[in-house]
Amino acid sequence: MPYELGRQYEVWDCPFCGQNTISIIHFPKSVNVKRSKTASLPGSKGFHVSPDVYVISGGCPKCGKAAEEVEKKFKSDGIL
Ligand SMILES: [Zn+2]
Repeated sequence: MPYELGRQYEVWDCPFCGQNTISIIHFPKSVNVKRSKTASLPGSKGFHVSPDVYVISGGCPKCGKAAEEVEKKFKSDGIL
């Protein structure tokens, strides 16, 4: 299963309290998706778009933020 092989687990710093507590599942896109033309979406804000997919699998146990809140924060910071 190439899907399984490409999956990596990472731990990122919480954007709220700075502790290294956020569990991330990282799917490198090159492993399971055919190379596609660079799509620049009309209306995108000119962010650098990462070709990889990151799934936040857990919130922060230190400051109690949920995974969705962490994801929203990463997105607003342009990290995701
Ligand atoms: Zn935190």
